[in-house]
Amino acid sequence: MWNIPEREFLLNPPRGFVFRQMHAEAQLLPDGRIAVSEKWFRHPPEIREFIVEHERGHIWEKRVLWGDDPDNTFKILDSETFGSMKDGAPTFIVSTFNLSEAMAESYAVYMTTPDELKRDYPRAFYFIEAMLQGASVDDAIELSSDYSISTLDAYWGSVP
Ligand SMILES: [Zn+2]
Repeated sequence: MWNIPEREFLLNPPRGFVFRQMHAEAQLLPDGRIAVSEKWFRHPPEIREFIVEHERGHIWEKRVLWGDDPDNTFKILDSETFGSMKDGAPTFIVSTFNLSEAMAESYAVYMTTPDELKRDYPRAFYFIEAMLQGASVDDAIELSSDYSISTLDAYWGSVP
């Protein structure tokens, strides 16, 4: 799947995917399909996979944040699982400024190089693992809260 040639993709798009002319490399469509552009095909297979897992991460984070409990966003922010908005400036993990992007990016790292997420952002790793095993947001926060947010020294100062 990840090394499919562009012409083959155009002739016979894999299920759940569609080709689009667009600025972005990939985008989650409202119907749940993932659109990829010609830019996506310029990447090696492992980067293509990561980009698609990031978009799948948006399906996951929307389900979590817009799910049954409207307080989920605030619970996750308070838990600092994916970083914090305390002290004014948002400092989310993996250098994003937005909870949805931090969750999608963490999901992509979980799916492609889980050992790296576990090593660098253990709380996010155990939160995602619990959620994917069917835990509620409350339980996933509880289960992951013993682990540190980040093991990287530069974490809090790393966001420009
Ligand atoms: Zn994104």
